[in-house]
Amino acid sequence: MKVVVLIGMEVHVQLRTQSKMFCRCQVRFGAPPNSLVCPVCLGLPGSLPVPNREALLKALTAALAFGCTPPAVTKFDRKNYYYPDLPKGYQISQYDQPLGKGGTLEIVTQEGVKVVRLRRLHLEEDTGKNLHDEGTGRSRVDYNRAGTPLVEIVSEPDLASPEETRAYLTALRTLVQYLDISDGNMQEGNLRCEPNVNLHIEDGGKLIKTPIIEIKNINSVRNVERAVRYEIQRQIEEYQQKGAAVTEVERATRGFDADKGTTFVMRQKEAAHDYRYFPEPDIPPITISAAWRSEAQARVPELPPARRRRFMQEHDLGEYDADVLCRDHHTADYFEAVVAAGSAPKPAANWILTEVARHANERETTVAQLGLASARLAALIDLVESGRIARTAAVKKILPLMLDSGEDPERLMTTLGLARLDDENLLRAAAEAAVKNNEKAAADYRAGKQKALSALMGFVMRETQGKANPDTVRSILEELLSEE
Ligand SMILES: [Zn+2]
Repeated sequence: MKVVVLIGMEVHVQLRTQSKMFCRCQVRFGAPPNSLVCPVCLGLPGSLPVPNREALLKALTAALAFGCTPPAVTKFDRKNYYYPDLPKGYQISQYDQPLGKGGTLEIVTQEGVKVVRLRRLHLEEDTGKNLHDEGTGRSRVDYNRAGTPLVEIVSEPDLASPEETRAYLTALRTLVQYLDISDGNMQEGNLRCEPNVNLHIEDGGKLIKTPIIEIKNINSVRNVERAVRYEIQRQIEEYQQKGAAVTEVERATRGFDADKGTTFVMRQKEAAHDYRYFPEPDIPPITISAAWRSEAQARVPELPPARRRRFMQEHDLGEYDADVLCRDHHTADYFEAVVAAGSAPKPAANWILTEVARHANERETTVAQLGLASARLAALIDLVESGRIARTAAVKKILPLMLDSGEDPERLMTTLGLARLDDENLLRAAAEAAVKNNEKAAADYRAGKQKALSALMGFVMRETQGKANPDTVRSILEELLSEE
């Protein structure tokens, strides 16, 4: 039995705009229920929608950044269905002339880089929110969110594992943050994803395709991986129970239960024609002019894949390190600031991804918001790289104090007496003692055995409680041993 996993993704991105998609109501999270509404977003008779230019421009920017092809003319369509959180009884969306077709998204996993094909990108309005009160058994609706601009990005089923699904969502979130079109915050619901999963099972010369299952209610990057992993296993087990009859199981939408780590049936899938799409009669088609396109294009910055490759070339970083740095553009900016302040790129990347990131995690913040001035970190890295302080002392003693006090690393080093011994006379005396006490190693080195030097170095380091500057010690020893 051979199993091929096919996963496609539908992601909704809430655009960060001042006002809603078709009215002037403010877009804001956490306002008192139904305080940000008007006749347009409540769908009252006689009200007319007017498209938000900034939302269109942000969506077009996204389409260009994904490499989609925007049409010459785009239009809105009505998607008809009834649901309490949809006051008009239809959603204004885009059907056959979306803002973007095609395009790709590059993802990085442990196995390397993969290019995922996109099917389309379109603009639509968000629904309101149903609030179910378990205590009273009553439900209420908050229409503050109704009419918020959303971009929906649909991929081809090119993802082949839970890890790739997670990498896809991470890459997409990174991209919208680079474009500055959305906060991309999954907890606040401004990034929502619905993976669809099915399997192609080759068994005894037959190819069996399991029904496509869409999963909803996923609120974190980690949970998308958990949900997909569970669903793949569930479909394999369903096939093992039902055999070829598995193809007769109806397509369904399942929800993800984060506590149990399982998926459950929410509802059977509606076919596309059930929505009775037709062109929105209140909004004329919109021509995407060349001027408009270039306005959007000008907003596309250096994107994560390009930046990652530049970090690899310019700073000689490995793919994985470069990718992790570029996942958050503030972290990538911070890295560049540390390098600009004079730090060598490799140690800078290493410090940021390990030591600095650990402190950020402990304080539940990000590297960029930790408050560690880039010049200060560069100075600390320089102290270590030039051998003036041992790395362990820098990591364990100096860095935490710098974070607490914001003090200069060199001053902290001096105050705490952590500087390495660099006193020429003192180190020369220790080196002479090392040569005297290790006659064999000294003779071996003179005979051409470079490695013998480490025994002599070790002696000096022990004599100085590890504080001697190894570079100075090495040059003194080399000088002493070349004399005779
Ligand atoms: Zn409104």
